[in-house]
Amino acid sequence: MKDVHMPNDVELITIPGNWNFDYRYFAGETASRFFAELKNSRRIMGTRCGKCRRLLVPARTFCEACYVETVSWEPVGEEGTLEVFTIVAAAFPGMPPPPFVIGYVTLDGADTSIANFIKGVDLSDIHAAGKSLLSRPRVRTVFSAEVQGRITDFHFELI
Ligand SMILES: [Zn+2]
Repeated sequence: MKDVHMPNDVELITIPGNWNFDYRYFAGETASRFFAELKNSRRIMGTRCGKCRRLLVPARTFCEACYVETVSWEPVGEEGTLEVFTIVAAAFPGMPPPPFVIGYVTLDGADTSIANFIKGVDLSDIHAAGKSLLSRPRVRTVFSAEVQGRITDFHFELI
């Protein structure tokens, strides 16, 4: 069946574009406290759901499973388990030079995982590195010398 919108003699083209703008958004009360805890206490905090009792990390205002407000703040352990990961092999603006690893870690005491850079991985052979990370290795939270109240204040390292 012939496509009435695309005659055969029309070449598909791409049109270059560029978005580059600075902006600010309100992080909200819960994220503001979460980041303040990183900066002021160098600790990762979660919020607990009073219904399902899960400790949600990073801290959230609402439990997405129960649709109720979380009821308390609690710190989680500095160590955890790498659940899933990706090895980034291409360069992206604003990111470290490749290759590097980003993964989701369930910190001890938490019921959900949090994403950040995973360091300390031998990436000389990316395929071998990927296979070794499938074992869900233990990792440790490492805070930067200078903290700013940002997710980049810490990363995870293989233990
Ligand atoms: Zn819940």
